[in-house]
Amino acid sequence: MTTASIIDGKAIAAELRQQVANEVGKLPFKPGLAVILVGEDPASKIYVRNKQVQTVEAGMNSFEHRLDADTSQDDLLALIAKLNADDAVHGILVQLPLPDHIDENRVINAIDPDKDVDGFHVINAGRLATGQKALTSCTPVGCVILAKKALGELKGLEAVIVGRSNIVGKPVAQLLLREHCTVTIAHSRTRNLDEVCRRADILVAAVGRPQMIKQDWIKPGACVIDVGINRIPREDGKTRLVGDVDFDGAVEVAGSITPVPGGVGPMTIACLLRNTLQAACALEGLPEPKI
Ligand code: NDP
Repeated sequence: MTTASIIDGKAIAAELRQQVANEVGKLPFKPGLAVILVGEDPASKIYVRNKQVQTVEAGMNSFEHRLDADTSQDDLLALIAKLNADDAVHGILVQLPLPDHIDENRVINAIDPDKDVDGFHVINAGRLATGQKALTSCTPVGCVILAKKALGELKGLEAVIVGRSNIVGKPVAQLLLREHCTVTIAHSRTRNLDEVCRRADILVAAVGRPQMIKQDWIKPGACVIDVGINRIPREDGKTRLVGDVDFDGAVEVAGSITPVPGGVGPMTIACLLRNTLQAACALEGLPEPKI
């Protein structure tokens, strides 16, 4: 029985954050990231806090805007217009989800696409799909960095992505296509999902269902990238985090695998910082840093 090598997302993310900080140190100005949080969602507050800490650690300015849950859509759009026009702000991120009375697409598409460091703007999705230079969603970029660390060259490999959301599944598929993989996107209506998964040299799970992908769905030696973050009950009444892959089973057949936590998760903020650096250099007319 083989045991997969564990892809250490925590260490790889720390290395990327250090590279970003090194590049920021060479700039004649400080890149600035504005983060907008509407409401009091506890998970969102933790994400925003982590983003702020890591932005400052990378040598950038962090501008935080905390708005009440009942903030109107017009007020939020007015703040975005102000940040679009602010030369000290190179990246704008609106923490999702937004309260129900606000139209998420309307808000995301109001961000200047060249400051859209989450890569969710329809222009950036279109640029990615058409092979143009784009600010690309952070978690998908993180997945591909991890797959490349594990496998090196990805050209010609069979990639199966389970999940077709706009923020994970679809951009991961686009990025793997750009790496010359043969890409299949599976979803809730896919027939014989286990058979489809068994074709994969690279299997990306972005479903949101705890431990759904079983050992015998995985081709021996495959690289498994588990994006899922699910909380399940423990015997002592507390909860623990698990991915979309049954890790204990998968680790016995895969060639390499990301753990949850400590795999894809830490890559997201590291890639956000890299996007902010890239946006800042582009907006200031400087060459793109090679990281
Ligand atoms: P969504 O709920 O938006 O999408 C889930 C996708 O999974 C959908 O395309 C859905 O198919 C598909 N799906 C659901 N059930 C099944 C099933 N039984 N069989 C096959 N496919 C299925 O989720 P997200 O893409 O936003 O997130 C996915 C997971 O990744 C979540 O656990 C989330 O917490 C995590 N995540 C982690 C991040 C990080 O590490 N930083 C960032 C973002 C997300 P259909 O379209 O047909 O409904």
